[in-house]
Amino acid sequence: MATDLKIAASKIASVNPATGEVLREFESASEAEVHAAVSRAKAAQESWASLGVRKRIAILREFQRLLHHKKSEVAQLVTREAGKPYVEALLTEVLVVLDAARFLIENAYQLLQDEPVPHGNLAMKTKSGRVLREPYGVIGIISPWNYPFSIPATESLAALVAGNAVVLKPSEFTSLTAIELAAMLHQAGVPEEVFQVLPGDGVTGAVMTNAAIDKLVFTGSVPTGRRIAQNAAARLLPVVLELGGKDPMLVLDDADIEIASRGAVWGAFVNAGQACLSVERCYVHRSLYEPFLKACVRHTQELRVGNGMDPDTDLGPLIHQRQLLNVEAQVNDARAQGARVLIGGKRLPEVGENFYAPTVLADVTSEMRIMRQETFGPVLPVMAYENDDEAVRLANDSEYGLAASVWTRDRARGEALARRIQAGTVMVNDVVSCFGISEAPHGGVKASGNGRSHGRYGLEEMVRIKYLDSDRLPGMEKIWWYGYGEAFSRQMEGLLDFQFARGIRKRLRGAVRAAGALRGK
Ligand code: NDP
Repeated sequence: MATDLKIAASKIASVNPATGEVLREFESASEAEVHAAVSRAKAAQESWASLGVRKRIAILREFQRLLHHKKSEVAQLVTREAGKPYVEALLTEVLVVLDAARFLIENAYQLLQDEPVPHGNLAMKTKSGRVLREPYGVIGIISPWNYPFSIPATESLAALVAGNAVVLKPSEFTSLTAIELAAMLHQAGVPEEVFQVLPGDGVTGAVMTNAAIDKLVFTGSVPTGRRIAQNAAARLLPVVLELGGKDPMLVLDDADIEIASRGAVWGAFVNAGQACLSVERCYVHRSLYEPFLKACVRHTQELRVGNGMDPDTDLGPLIHQRQLLNVEAQVNDARAQGARVLIGGKRLPEVGENFYAPTVLADVTSEMRIMRQETFGPVLPVMAYENDDEAVRLANDSEYGLAASVWTRDRARGEALARRIQAGTVMVNDVVSCFGISEAPHGGVKASGNGRSHGRYGLEEMVRIKYLDSDRLPGMEKIWWYGYGEAFSRQMEGLLDFQFARGIRKRLRGAVRAAGALRGK
């Protein structure tokens, strides 16, 4: 399909955000290359689908073996390209993917089987119904830089095991990690045309949205998600949108301050705050407010900021200067409006140009940008509230709805409150780690997007539902076919009475009247 986007082959680079070292330069895939890749994927997909689920699962098992074997190499690559501490790369990237593969190896065969559908309507009892799950064809995946391995890999594994081909456009900042994913999938037995990576920038992504893919799975920011949704609407392209968040953390009056503050500090600063699920707003019951802040500052003081390759590092750099400037602007705006910076609130040029100190802010208000816009940096803004109703109101006072957390010693109370929060996931007494539960559906409500990845629901996104209806009495005319008239109307009234009238006599009379229709056919 032609688009009016003219691409001059632009250069993109993979750069180590901790050191500024250019790891590799690429040319963005051109418009023609995107269309050619999608055509190749289309041509190859049918034989991939006809291989059958069991054989595809065997390939997945081999991929899992290879990944486990190369776990350190992959984690180091992620650290070099995206900056996060090595151990975080090991856990939130490699482990998440190994376990996603485990889930599909154990469950995909069962979940992709035809599903018998018993019919309740008496008139339809002669039919045998089944739900079939068929691959879409080519799934386009556009992914961000913050989890450059686990996000595209979990989505790709689900797409592939369901029999789709995949064309992946990774973030321009993390092409190397995506290329490593492709290399392992190919080595495991996925044909090269069935899984392709197109390094490129936003323009390449936009071209992909217009290419002949059959579904698009997009993970990224809300503004890009909106643009993609508009594009997709014009051609009715199905899309999954995994977008940004502004996740609230509610610390109830009975919470364990030590545990909750440690959770808040990790939840706000993991991956230097560049996680869609990170704690971006913290609401603490007034009675715990000051001791909670003190504990957060104490834990933050202990953190070591540096190059993620150093095993002692807790926080790495931000991905690039643009991200740092955005974080800095939000903190400065909050400060100018009266927020107290308890710790941090500044760049760390002595460590490197993309480093920002982990920051705890007190006395923030709901009107400040820091409490409304996604920050995506190492900032923990904390606000006091008076009672549970106010906490729920504050949590829901956001255009986003990705995830949330509730902290309490009383699990039942926490779960009751969780039900009142508008979010795709609510955790009680933990944060962020839901992303590591392969069985748990991941996705948002409101501006955080729609559709789900991970587990059963993530797999369901990769298949078209087809209903197969097969009549058990092929030699018989159906009673609802033509032959209308007064008598037929009475017979059909009888049919409705037989099924839905209250009282056995009325139903039996209905059955007798309805039986006349059978005689007439
Ligand atoms: P962006 O929206 O900037 O980019 C996401 C991807 O879209 C990148 O590959 C990008 O390419 C590409 N892209 C940019 N413009 C277009 C376009 N017009 N058409 C098609 N594709 C385009 O997000 P970031 O990469 O900055 O990622 C951070 C965001 O992702 C945050 O908002 C975060 O919350 C969200 N996110 C959501 C998750 C979820 O599961 N809900 C998980 C992780 C992150 P390029 O990088 O080359 O510009």
